[in-house]
Amino acid sequence: MLKEIIAKTILHYHKRQFATNWDANIYRGCGHNCRYCFAQYSHKYLENTDFFNDIFVKTNSPELLYKELGEIKWDKSPVNVCGISDCYQPVEQVCKIMPRVIKSFIAKRNPLVITTKSSLLLRDIDLIKELLKVAEVSIIVSVSTLDEEKRKLVEPNTAPTIDRLKILKKFNEIGCKTSVLFVPIIPFISDDYENLDAIFRITKEFNLGSINAWPLHLRGNTKNVFFDFLQNNYLELLPKFKKLYQTKNASKEYCKDLFSRIEELKVKYQLYSTYKPTKPIKKPIQTSLFD
Ligand code: SF4
Repeated sequence: MLKEIIAKTILHYHKRQFATNWDANIYRGCGHNCRYCFAQYSHKYLENTDFFNDIFVKTNSPELLYKELGEIKWDKSPVNVCGISDCYQPVEQVCKIMPRVIKSFIAKRNPLVITTKSSLLLRDIDLIKELLKVAEVSIIVSVSTLDEEKRKLVEPNTAPTIDRLKILKKFNEIGCKTSVLFVPIIPFISDDYENLDAIFRITKEFNLGSINAWPLHLRGNTKNVFFDFLQNNYLELLPKFKKLYQTKNASKEYCKDLFSRIEELKVKYQLYSTYKPTKPIKKPIQTSLFD
């Protein structure tokens, strides 16, 4: 169910930097339905438990962004508009709020960060080209497996992984800063050498910038949802996961082995760079919204 809400504020600072310290959540909840989704906890603040089906959209996001990005004290930091939920998730096809959000960034000449698993982003390429004339745009695509059968099970409503990487290449070619977020690497499902090597190789061949790779972590209720998924789809793996995930993280031995394999691939493909958007010089310019 789609629920429209009016937010009071939109920019949020968080201490832990992921691409930037600032985000703006246009949506709460996400219909991509990734079985490992770490953001499910966020729905408890809305007193709702159905993160994947009850999607909240902040309909006044473009106006709030226009206002807050234009405040005197605002330092024009890059803002990630997909902080908790993917802003190009399926309902965006109906809501069409992202074009108006991007227009606010154009009007305020503010750097933008988009993190997505969707191909819908292509719809807005012309607006992103406009924004690139006045501010930096960073696009981060997260991936887990190139095996389509597995992808359809684990992340059922996302775009095929290879399509996401091809789209990222397109955005790189028009001048966006790009990065691949190889997260989560799922033990026994997407951690095989073939998959790891292929994602690193494509990142290099497509010239996609940096790559960050991390194993699955299962915090709070995410563990129950993921274990239910295993029960229904990979029953034989359930005992192995229970042994591996005695806490929210995979065992130290597993992580050590995985990170050493990741390091080898970084050397093999000479992919060392760490993604970080450039902080702009503050230069507020007032223009009218949506003209
Ligand atoms: S795209 Fe991100 S926010 Fe949406 S379900 Fe998947 S992991 Fe969760």
